[in-house]
Amino acid sequence: MPSYVDPSKCDGCKGGDKTACMYICPNDLMVLEKTEMKAYNQEPDACWECYSCVKICPQGAIFVRGYDDFVPMGGQVHPMRSADSIMWTVKFRNGNLKRFKFPVRTTAEGAANAYVDQKGASLDDECLLLEANLPTPK
Ligand code: SF4
Ligand code: SF4
Repeated sequence: MPSYVDPSKCDGCKGGDKTACMYICPNDLMVLEKTEMKAYNQEPDACWECYSCVKICPQGAIFVRGYDDFVPMGGQVHPMRSADSIMWTVKFRNGNLKRFKFPVRTTAEGAANAYVDQKGASLDDECLLLEANLPTPK
């Protein structure tokens, strides 16, 4: 089920040109209504519930009603990001809360480079990335 914005929490990312949710959505679904400075999902049917907007929103204003195969019906799942982990809070419909904390990275923020020392990772190389890095057959 698609993401939705709680307008009482959204501050329009304080009026920036492009809000965090607009920046991160792989489907370009989030838009900002500039009169009220509130974001919304303009095409819920196209949302694949990737949670990227939910995780990046600095105000915790975006929610997804999860399917009941991973969230109990009527429950909510919400992440709180820090530099090295995400704390997931599951709120059950009876009010019970469960929290799970997971590390999100093994390298410093901004330092990951998947292409370091990889052949075929430049436009000057004719090989595809995986092609260039396959072991030579014996
Ligand atoms: S990222 Fe959050 S606070 Fe910023 S515009 Fe989107 S919903 Fe609003
Ligand atoms: S859950 Fe993913 S696809 Fe849906 S609006 Fe958010 S970022 Fe876009």
